[in-house]
Amino acid sequence: MTSVNWLEETEKRKDELLAAVREFLQIKSVLDPATARDGAPFGEGIRRALDYALKVCADAGMTVKDVGGYAAHAEFGEGEELIGILSHVDVVPEGDGWSSPPYAAEIVDGKIVARGAIDDKGPAMAAIFAAKIVKELGLPLSKRVRLIFGTDEESNWQCVKTYFQTEEMPTMGFTPDADFPLIYAEKGLTDLTLTQTADAYAAQQRPPAARPDAKLLALSAGLRMNMVPDKAEATLEPLAMTGEELAERYRAYLRDTGLSGEADVRGGQVLLRMEGVSVHAMDPSKGVNAGTELLHFLAGLTLDERGRQFARFTDRYLHRQHYGEAIGIAHDDEEMGPLTLNTGVIRYEADGDAVFGVNIRYPHSQPFERWRAILEERLAEAAFSLEVVEHLKPHRVDPQHPLVTTLQRVYTEQTGQEAEIIAIGGATYGRSLEVGVAFGPLFPGRPDSAHQRDEHIRVDDLIKATAIYAQAIYELAK
Ligand SMILES: [Zn+2]
Repeated sequence: MTSVNWLEETEKRKDELLAAVREFLQIKSVLDPATARDGAPFGEGIRRALDYALKVCADAGMTVKDVGGYAAHAEFGEGEELIGILSHVDVVPEGDGWSSPPYAAEIVDGKIVARGAIDDKGPAMAAIFAAKIVKELGLPLSKRVRLIFGTDEESNWQCVKTYFQTEEMPTMGFTPDADFPLIYAEKGLTDLTLTQTADAYAAQQRPPAARPDAKLLALSAGLRMNMVPDKAEATLEPLAMTGEELAERYRAYLRDTGLSGEADVRGGQVLLRMEGVSVHAMDPSKGVNAGTELLHFLAGLTLDERGRQFARFTDRYLHRQHYGEAIGIAHDDEEMGPLTLNTGVIRYEADGDAVFGVNIRYPHSQPFERWRAILEERLAEAAFSLEVVEHLKPHRVDPQHPLVTTLQRVYTEQTGQEAEIIAIGGATYGRSLEVGVAFGPLFPGRPDSAHQRDEHIRVDDLIKATAIYAQAIYELAK
């Protein structure tokens, strides 16, 4: 019945939108525990940014509600069902090297440059203006529309966890906090620690030892489970081999494999270093894992009993096993892609614990319970126990769901481009909604400047995204 020109309606409000976005970005909303208080659990800056967003919504006639400063919302429309648009007002610290001040929000070459411009304050304000447009046009709606603002998306998501303890879960919704066209599926994410204590090691039945070349005293690699480690270090005590022989053998191994590292003999011990290539755990096959590469070398030596078991276990199940093949948990989903396994942290103490910190990302067709049971069986063979440190279940909205098909249609109408839907190995804010997808704001082909210096959003993209969000809100809520 209506033929609203959404882009034109957005253009009419361009000056007002740009002024609001810039003012919003000028509030430094970085997590600041030092100024945290009741009603501002993440500090004053984030509190002020939240207040600013709510003020713009209240001025537009929406009903606002603050939930203890953890999150807040602004609502309009009427009906049983609720359409949610989830964004966040916090930003990561600015870092160094900016070519214009990170909280000046200057417009340079058609781009607004500021921390938070694309992640996520620019898009949050685009969503507010989109809602404003729908409201100001007085179009009849059969559902309620709720803009929800989170405040610690960049750290622990306490905001949405707290918010949804007391507040209504939207019937469906989207988050403008990732990429266009649309992300409908996200893998399950787990951080696991696999630990073999000295006692558990000692309790095993073991074959008698051969005379070892060396004893593995300690090994460490990596700091974070979600990164491929680029540094690893092992300390050995030479036994049947001399320190020099060990060092020489390692140097030869480095030459043969083209890997980089070094060997030092010092005070009767041998120190081996390995350098790898660090990449994100989403696709560990793109990196070089310094830890497992070093252990692959050690697995070729005759080490002391425990060191040998540790090196061989690593070599067999974790070395270049980016998809969990040898463990027996590999699974490739047609839609969501393969299960991936990253050994991000390795710690070994001859007299203490041996620990792997592992990040496994899995598609919904390989259930957690299934692969966990297989993994535990393999671990038991070497007296390792498993602890689940973090687990986010896979998130997926049916591609035929009206949320997906409506947003696809809107995107195509506004851009003239086909709206291919995307499955990812990471996590977007969209998974905090029961039926939620990520929808923009980054257009295909645009460089992603989130979390980097000179973070920016192009003014024309901001306008286009606002028009898309306005039509999306209307089509979902009409
Ligand atoms: Zn974000």
